[in-house]
Amino acid sequence: MKIAFISDIHGNLEALQTALKVIDNRRVDEVICLGDIVGYGANPAECLDLVRSVASRTVLGNHDASVSGQEGLDYFNDFARAAVTWTQSMLTSDQMEYLRSLPLSLQLEHLHLVHGTPGNPQKWEYIFSSYDAARQFSFICGKVCFVGHSHVPGDYHEKWRDHLSSTEDRVTDAPSSRRIVNIGSVGQPRDRDPRLCFVVYDTEMDHVEFVREEYNVEAAAGKIRRAGLPEFLADRLLWGW
Ligand code: ZN
Repeated sequence: MKIAFISDIHGNLEALQTALKVIDNRRVDEVICLGDIVGYGANPAECLDLVRSVASRTVLGNHDASVSGQEGLDYFNDFARAAVTWTQSMLTSDQMEYLRSLPLSLQLEHLHLVHGTPGNPQKWEYIFSSYDAARQFSFICGKVCFVGHSHVPGDYHEKWRDHLSSTEDRVTDAPSSRRIVNIGSVGQPRDRDPRLCFVVYDTEMDHVEFVREEYNVEAAAGKIRRAGLPEFLADRLLWGW
């Protein structure tokens, strides 16, 4: 079975449409969204409807939670806060209700799906590095945990944790060791590569493919500027950071 994992779309319709076109060509069996459909970009409503129509399962992201009133705005920087407030004015009550219906995490056979971290989904902690991942392996239900949130793709294996600590003599290459895959961001990549990012996972082969694709980033940035959203949110799409 092949699953396409998409995350952190952030209202970027151009990126989402391109990602879904690529996914269509890959003939995957299922599309799963790891949250943050909205926030930052100029087409939150359109992205929400599209994700709702293609994704079999979706978990809640921190922007989805704030936009739909489940979380306060204190946590956010000025740019994110401005985008959340603007996004709230763009969604219908039905769309808000949909965001409020999303679970914080999901279990799918041996797969654990969450926006931030398996250890504490509500705290919205980030996984940027193997150091961040090392603290999370013990919280995984199953074998593989797919996350989003940091917008930085990464593939972390549990045995790396053991190599980190010289005091720990549990160095293991056991094939059953757990794994965290950060699938990166469709709508606002932050690894200095402006191309959209998502993952195609082959469940039988346990194979993770990171897909990068160019999309009309200028169009997405132009819409952000015309909507009166912070200029920085348009610029960072072009930088991929
Ligand atoms: Zn995000």
